Amino acid sequence: MSVDLGIPAVRTRPIAKRRVSRQIMVGPVPVGGDAPVSVQSMTTTLTADVNATLQQIAELTATGCQIVRVAVPSQDDADALPAIARKSQIPVIADIHFQPKYVFAAIEAGCAAVRVNPGNIKKFDDKVGEIARAASDAGVPIRIGVNAGSLDPRLLAKYGKATPEALVESALWECSLFEEHGFRDIKISVKHNDPVVMIQAYRLLAEQCDYPLHLGVTEAGPAFQGTIKSAVAFGALLAEGIGDTIRVSLSAPPVEEVKVGAQILESLGLRERGLEIVSCPSCGRAQVDVYTLAEQVQAGLTGLKVPLRVAVMGCVVNGPGEAREADLGVASGNGKGQIFVRGEVIKTVPESQIVETLIEEALRLAEEMGVEVDLDDEAGGPEVVVR
Ligand code: SF4
Repeated sequence: MSVDLGIPAVRTRPIAKRRVSRQIMVGPVPVGGDAPVSVQSMTTTLTADVNATLQQIAELTATGCQIVRVAVPSQDDADALPAIARKSQIPVIADIHFQPKYVFAAIEAGCAAVRVNPGNIKKFDDKVGEIARAASDAGVPIRIGVNAGSLDPRLLAKYGKATPEALVESALWECSLFEEHGFRDIKISVKHNDPVVMIQAYRLLAEQCDYPLHLGVTEAGPAFQGTIKSAVAFGALLAEGIGDTIRVSLSAPPVEEVKVGAQILESLGLRERGLEIVSCPSCGRAQVDVYTLAEQVQAGLTGLKVPLRVAVMGCVVNGPGEAREADLGVASGNGKGQIFVRGEVIKTVPESQIVETLIEEALRLAEEMGVEVDLDDEAGGPEVVVR
């Protein structure tokens, strides 16, 4: 008899009723409304270096990134935009600070959207009409990207610091300037490095408008800290149905941001799960080296992009239960491993053959699912989930 351990199935029920938002199109990717929450990232190359930027975009695309942003701080970067926008496989957003002229260059270059931070564009208000017209004519949405570190000086003076209210007031004020020109093709972000302030700001914003929201914890820090902060903040908001696209900001290669973003969405059942390794944390009862076993299975299956859950368990306490509930699993003990496939024990193998047997069976299941098995692709490998 199979015992229900409460492990989520590959397709889970939505975690929350989605906040009602209008939908915009970032190139071919819908954002807001009932569109799936998308993952985006930002290149770290010099945008003017077209080849390096396209190479990084290709890596991000292979990892599951759906929208990419490039910084445009100089004329050389603006000049590179047409080639990047044309050759990128995913929509490109131009990130503009300080110089309104690059907004027009990005729209002309065929970028899918433009991000502006009104707080640091001098005389931005005077340019809004012109920007709204150009964006509207080209069908290009604008992200109003308010950031705690570059809040509009007027609001900084009013609130004393970047409070949730200040961030939201800044964003909605800038939206109202666009709205005066009939432009509503907007998404908004109100980022802060403190997840608590960030969560409060997005909650407030979600109540006050129906624009799609781009979630981000800005300057979240190095990989470990940034991952925790982003997972906590995005998790809290997405669990309330708030958030339409996410960008994890890490002081780490952008591919890592995409992996974290995708994993957050998968964990919440907001993106179809890929290969997932469920391994126990090990304890004094373990009869095998679970860490090594899990690592070897993960390494052996890197690149396999199928919704398979593989359980690697250290002993017979929880092992058979977890292994039975997974698509494939092993419960180890006494120098042997009981191999489970779809809830049934198919064989018992010596410990030395556990890894190769799990890999063999995973590939067989993947082929049964009609998936072409290609393990050469290093990007987007399976994640290890420790239970
Ligand atoms: S499955 Fe066994 S070895 Fe692993 S954590 Fe649980 S009790 Fe410990």
